[in-house]
Amino acid sequence: MKIVRLKPKRDYPTRQGHPWIFSGAVDTVSREPENGETVQVVSADGTPLGLGAYSPHSQIRVRMWTFGSGSTPVDEAFFADRAARACSLREGFCERFRTDAWRVVNAEADGLPGVTVDRYGDVLVGQFTTAGAARNRDVIVKSLTEATGCAAFYERSDTDGRAHEGLEKTVGTLVGPEPPDRIPIHEGDTAFEVDVRGGHKTGFYLDQRENRRLVALYAKGADLLNAFSYTGGFGVAALRAGAASVTHVDLSASALALAERNTALNVPDGGGKSAFLQGNVFSVLREFRDRARSFGFVVLDPPKFAETRVQTMKALRGYKDINLLGIKLVVRGGYLATFSCSGAIDPKLFRTVVTEAAHDAGREVVVLHELRQAPDHTESLRFPEGLYLKGLLCRVM
Ligand code: SAH
Repeated sequence: MKIVRLKPKRDYPTRQGHPWIFSGAVDTVSREPENGETVQVVSADGTPLGLGAYSPHSQIRVRMWTFGSGSTPVDEAFFADRAARACSLREGFCERFRTDAWRVVNAEADGLPGVTVDRYGDVLVGQFTTAGAARNRDVIVKSLTEATGCAAFYERSDTDGRAHEGLEKTVGTLVGPEPPDRIPIHEGDTAFEVDVRGGHKTGFYLDQRENRRLVALYAKGADLLNAFSYTGGFGVAALRAGAASVTHVDLSASALALAERNTALNVPDGGGKSAFLQGNVFSVLREFRDRARSFGFVVLDPPKFAETRVQTMKALRGYKDINLLGIKLVVRGGYLATFSCSGAIDPKLFRTVVTEAAHDAGREVVVLHELRQAPDHTESLRFPEGLYLKGLLCRVM
């Protein structure tokens, strides 16, 4: 096996079980490994540290599959074991959370860097975002279909990040029949339809499942603004729970069309209480402000404004603007649920942004719940970068 030797004193994170090795920590590479090839990583003094996937095009040069000197080979048995572990971590999940859709593999946190797989009913939908994940795709797919008993696997590796890994985007059916246009799923008593072929990511924001429930708990009787609504998630859950009205705002016409369908699925006369506005949230919210419109509940769930740390400053301005506008629209005593899914912005920084927005809006904001990604989007203590979704559910006085 080809060997990646680290520079002196650069092996600490790897010894601690952190899966990323940046190019700056690499001293020498014995023969040039292929894209995604499994390599042996050793410290400067030659101590074996484990096996990882080599990414020659990426700043993250190696992503570790295994740790320690007696590492098992990265073969079919290894991936079968990882698949079994991911499934056992989520045992009982579907009964406990009353759902038939959940994240089956959450990349690094499940010991499978670059592998994200969601389950919608009996269909698995996966993204292989790194060279190592792509190279081992077929054996990973086999392990997961066997471990879950799912009859279909659809690939949605159309992520922008693939370019940094020297990979083309690719989508299509890998196992079983082509998925239908819309797959029905359930979260408790709420039903949704998911477009796994045309939707964002793998089709649905499963990471917000528990937060949708929490928002619904406070939404009764409120006029709710669902900003960045996508296919309606928060608003539909709120309407089902007795919200007086829901205003969905999103740029995407197809997402709003599905939000309309999801509304009809859950609340027969829900269409009459719902508005579906196609537009830019920043300008729609300004318009609402200028027309002195207000809401009992405002949900702000924007897309990732920061892809990298470098973009963080610009992203912070975006989060501040949107929160300032959002807070101003909340009636006194009403609610705000605000989120950031940028991994580069940690919970403390996000809190600071919301604090500044509240200050500028001249409103007292009281935090009721600190929010995060749903527990099937596992977070490993070894990999703090894996906590990407954070939010606050607040009372705005
Ligand atoms: N809250 C959703 C997920 C939101 S994802 C859920 O729980 O399912 C972010 C959404 O924001 C996407 O649907 C995207 O189309 C939309 N979007 C991105 N930028 C936008 C903008 N400036 N104005 C309106 N919508 C935007």
